Amino acid sequence: KKVLITGGTGVIGKHLTKILLEKGYEVAYLSRQKKSIPSVQVFEWDIQKGYLEEGALDNLHFLIHLAGEGVAEGKWTEKQKKLILSSRVDTITFLTNQLKVKGIKPAAFVSASGSSYYGEDTGDVKHTESSPPGNDFLSYVTVEWEKAADQIAEMGVRTVKLRTGVVLDKEGGALPRMAAPARLGFGAPLGSGNQWIPWIHMEDICSMYVAALEDESWTGAYNAVAPNPVTNEELTKQICKALGKPQWLPNVPAFALKLVFGEMANVVIGSSYLINERISKTSFKYTFPNIEAAVRKELQEN
Ligand code: NDP
Repeated sequence: KKVLITGGTGVIGKHLTKILLEKGYEVAYLSRQKKSIPSVQVFEWDIQKGYLEEGALDNLHFLIHLAGEGVAEGKWTEKQKKLILSSRVDTITFLTNQLKVKGIKPAAFVSASGSSYYGEDTGDVKHTESSPPGNDFLSYVTVEWEKAADQIAEMGVRTVKLRTGVVLDKEGGALPRMAAPARLGFGAPLGSGNQWIPWIHMEDICSMYVAALEDESWTGAYNAVAPNPVTNEELTKQICKALGKPQWLPNVPAFALKLVFGEMANVVIGSSYLINERISKTSFKYTFPNIEAAVRKELQEN
């Protein structure tokens, strides 16, 4: 069975690909650049030019959408904000049109979504999947992203949206960035340190993608987070502990982070508490429900 993944070359895509190949799936990517990747067929696309390489949608069984301009890659200029939005939203609209034109209906569509759906900085408020969306930039992006995904649901395709928390993985995303100063002995909580981090281990988010493809009872939006959220201070403590380094004092002050990151500062100092309500009602079993083992696994094993 062919699984086509947009943005499959990214951090989550790479891990997920390994698992899908081991399970016997055929894996193909939609990428902005033609490249050669072992055991994966890479098809090119360019939504600005309306280009989709011939054959990309042939024999399609499952579709996964991971493509998206990084939200922490550069200052949020107007141009960058447009890219953050369109790389997630217009890509789905483009695919929806292609599927319609070619009369193709995948067995399931699973799209990444973000914990930012509920707001960039919402203190101690606890969000289940039925909580309302926030009203800042990232919430807006996430709401539009999910609306775009619903276009495929409206074609009668079972659609799952994974409101993903901070994925802990040694190779990319937040953890290596947080671990770098800690390795040098400067690991310190960011801002107050009291902000909640809706984390999830890489292995678990990938297993959720597989469950969403294979278990037909999965449909709609899920908070894709571990069952035990932690504060930034606790995460910093676990990183320092796993690396055998002392925790640096004092905290990095919020104003300094705002100076450096500007509008984007909420990506590191925003607080967001998600409850995995819908996942807890499925048969999904977490490999890493607790932060200590999750961080240790990533930072102590090579
Ligand atoms: P990555 O940034 O590692 O990879 C995303 C992929 O998207 C890239 O490899 C690239 O593929 C493609 N892409 C990047 N920019 C653009 C663009 N401007 N237009 C079209 N395609 C683009 O992401 P992750 O694997 O970490 O995450 C996958 C999805 O999950 C993303 O949408 C992300 O927002 C979401 N998510 C991730 C979290 C995390 O902690 N990792 C947390 C919450 C949500 P190529 O170069 O081949 O085209």
